[in-house]
Amino acid sequence: MNYYDILLPIPKSYILTYKTESALEIGMRVNVPLGKKIVTGVIYNISQKEEFEYEVREICEIIDDKPFFNKKDLKFLETVSNYYGYSLGAVLSGIISRKILNTKIIDYENSISNLSKLANLNNEQQIIYNEISQQKDFQCFLIHGVAGSGKTEVYIELIKNCILQGKQAIFIVPEISLTPQLVKRVSDRLGIVVETYHSKLTPQKREKVVSGFKKGKIPVIIGARSSLFIPSNDLGIIIVDEEHENSFKQEEVPCYNLRDAAIFKAKIYNIPVVLGSATPSLESYYNAITGKYKYFKIDRRFHNDSSPDIKIIDLKTEDKISGILSLQLYDAIKKRILNGEQTILFLNRKGYSSQLICQSCGETLFCKNCAVTMTYYKSDETARCHYCGEKIKYLKCKCGSHDFLDFGIGTEKAYLILEKLFPGEVIKIDADTVSSQKKISEILTDFEKNKFKILLGTQLIAKGLNFPNVTLVGILNIDNIFSLPDFRNNERAYQLLTQVAGRAGRFKKKGEVIIQTYNPDMPVFTFLTSNGFYTYELQMRKTFSYPPYYRIVRFIFSHFKEQTVKEVAKKIESILKNSHLNIKILPAVPAPVYKIKNRYRFHIVIKSENYTEINKSINLLKVEFEKLKLTTLGFKIDVDPYFFL
Ligand code: ADP
Ligand code: ZN
Repeated sequence: MNYYDILLPIPKSYILTYKTESALEIGMRVNVPLGKKIVTGVIYNISQKEEFEYEVREICEIIDDKPFFNKKDLKFLETVSNYYGYSLGAVLSGIISRKILNTKIIDYENSISNLSKLANLNNEQQIIYNEISQQKDFQCFLIHGVAGSGKTEVYIELIKNCILQGKQAIFIVPEISLTPQLVKRVSDRLGIVVETYHSKLTPQKREKVVSGFKKGKIPVIIGARSSLFIPSNDLGIIIVDEEHENSFKQEEVPCYNLRDAAIFKAKIYNIPVVLGSATPSLESYYNAITGKYKYFKIDRRFHNDSSPDIKIIDLKTEDKISGILSLQLYDAIKKRILNGEQTILFLNRKGYSSQLICQSCGETLFCKNCAVTMTYYKSDETARCHYCGEKIKYLKCKCGSHDFLDFGIGTEKAYLILEKLFPGEVIKIDADTVSSQKKISEILTDFEKNKFKILLGTQLIAKGLNFPNVTLVGILNIDNIFSLPDFRNNERAYQLLTQVAGRAGRFKKKGEVIIQTYNPDMPVFTFLTSNGFYTYELQMRKTFSYPPYYRIVRFIFSHFKEQTVKEVAKKIESILKNSHLNIKILPAVPAPVYKIKNRYRFHIVIKSENYTEINKSINLLKVEFEKLKLTTLGFKIDVDPYFFL
């Protein structure tokens, strides 16, 4: 009889021993009984033990005749598990997903036809290509290139080079960029049908793609997040476009960041990984300038179309229609309609918090201890800081005024206002419509066909901005980005505005970008037309001990009983304080969204310059948490968190 330790997609007790007559290899998938259920697991180890105190059950089905995961794949899972503080079982169930785990490997035949001949890269592209294509071992590259500078063209050449060497490539893009246009472009340029992978594939299609990639018959996959976890035959390169995208961070357990996981994977496979963005994350930028990554910058667009004029409008002094539309923006839209041209309007109403703006001077209320804005709580009429716990009852601005405006108009309300002003001309995309990618495509197609003159949407539409007839982009209000309790506010504002301006730069006719704000003096606006954002923002991050200088972990506790969760959070806080670990501990405070689904939430944020100390803290808390034996208590670990609500 053979005994095997099987890794199961279950967060707790995820490695169990089973037996079988057959001789199996590590990495093969098997079905095993668990309670009354049958579960698919992966052979993780050949058990050293032969005698057990309990009855070892028998493997009921052997799925693979060869390992599904190789040793490196398993090492990759272990790395993700260790870094993010979640068990291998949680990683298997929460990242790999049953979709990949349960995919049957089928026969797959595909002969790679002739690849089309190389494009003529320009000088800048050629330098980047040469350096990356010569790299055989692990190295992370960052391509910092404005929109339209030809990054995608470089990726395509790198993929081609990888395929010519008989290796495979994974090209990851945010779900929203996974458009038919991109896939067609890559397919045309490579001269092969390029497969895509994302969570909404039919089971048949998924079987085809996973089997083909696993067997080495598919040379390249363009995909969303999950494609990083498809087993490969001989992986040669990983490319992550729009590396700064927040959607690469998974908020659900096990909270991981795709970009960072891609780097882990490349390291384990000892292959190059390429990150690209017009507005890199501060983390990647910092890694690049400090020499950890190799850095390339492209400042010019490939086709030298005209840049748009950028105009900042001060909402404090400007006359407004229905509180949202300055006369200048109104006139600009009107003019476009008369000329038969189109307008895109952004309203980034995201998150839960409202912003408090002083009615007399226009200042946004900030915490006195932190570089974050205060959040307004209507229930008890206080303003609070979610980082340090600061709380003020009697609101008072620096200018002395007590009158604050609780600002907040969502896309719904804006749509009604705009529809009254421009009847029949407005179409909108927001959270209600984004649930389906198909619906977004339909709306964008309608807009492209000129059925509507105005497209109103959240930042999700920033990437769909390639409409030749659009000559005006309006940001209705950017201030709500600054109002979230988040140190990344500046970065997000900069990324959104740069993206909009960069995309709008593809206008055939001279374009215009109009940004409405109550805070026209925010430094971020000056960086839209001049360099210096990264230097400025790095200095801020350094001053306030934020990433990339410090690593952060956020522990979130939740429970139906307010008292219980509070007690646990305070207890954990004191354990951390007594641990003598080299970390900064912010006090346990109620989470900004204090109650979700009737569960009360507290959180603790810790910071350290040293990841080892972070990792020790996580492991310590996991042990302490187990000791509490409070099964009804929610406990979430968020390493390198992106949101703080
Ligand atoms: P990015 O990915 O940086 O936004 P793209 O790769 O999409 O930029 O390039 C922008 C435009 O320039 C595209 O229309 C692309 O086809 C064109 N382009 C880029 N590089 C080349 C090249 N070497 N030869 C011909 N056209 C190019
Ligand atoms: Zn504070």
